Amino acid sequence: MRANHFVPNLAGWTVALAACLIASSARSATEVTLTRLACGEDPAPLDASSYSDTYAYSDFKFRLTYSCYLVRHGDEFMIWDTGNPPGKWPASPKVSLVDQLRALKLRPEDIRYVGISHYHEDHTGQLPAFAQSTLLIGKGDWDALTAANPPRNMDAKTASEWREPFAHWISQGGKLEALTGDKDVFGDGTVVMLYTPGHTPGHHSLLVRLEKTGNVLLSGDLTHFHENYDNNQVPRWNTNRADTLASLDRFKQIARNLKAMVIIQHDPRDIDKLPPFPAAAK
Ligand SMILES: [Zn+2]
Repeated sequence: MRANHFVPNLAGWTVALAACLIASSARSATEVTLTRLACGEDPAPLDASSYSDTYAYSDFKFRLTYSCYLVRHGDEFMIWDTGNPPGKWPASPKVSLVDQLRALKLRPEDIRYVGISHYHEDHTGQLPAFAQSTLLIGKGDWDALTAANPPRNMDAKTASEWREPFAHWISQGGKLEALTGDKDVFGDGTVVMLYTPGHTPGHHSLLVRLEKTGNVLLSGDLTHFHENYDNNQVPRWNTNRADTLASLDRFKQIARNLKAMVIIQHDPRDIDKLPPFPAAAK
């Protein structure tokens, strides 16, 4: 009897084990890719002295680039930062995000999430194009944007300019998640918005875990260029110096522990770390 029971049980375990393996391979088979989208370029290098509150730069000019990203997770899509608005400023992009997506055969309504590192206008310029997406933004930023009285570092004019791209979500019922900490966007740890406050109260960076390329960290504006990152420099106009330093420390530890490729979004020297558009890092 024992032997007779053993055989069907073993078969049962085999079936169960096979089911487990299929389930886990289905999970890990969700392909994640990352594509850089061009979102503007300073026409000339600009004085960088205000990027340090310790007078690190007396005669240093820097030409910022503006980067947005498309993250594909299986058949779902997320945009990370929306850059400058096209045709408005000298640093505006020549080709809009919508047109870049069209080249990838995607429409704005295909984008499930639009994640914003923070509320500054060079990261939110094309946000209105994604009115059907769920907006992911730090609660600290959301509270500042929607406060009756503009907080520190925001005069009334600036506040209304910074608010403008968010109009759909502020007053017209757009879907929104205001994040109080990290956000595991797709629930499997592959795409995580990391709470890294200091540049603004609710600032986030983005971790993307790719199967072939490895782990990638997108800075948001936690730092703006290599010189600042390497020396922990804090821009004069950040909302909180201590938070910025704590966030830099956390970000650098994550980069070390995960052996992640760090991409500073505003630094043109980091553009080539990802394959050129329309290719995606996998
Ligand atoms: Zn910023």
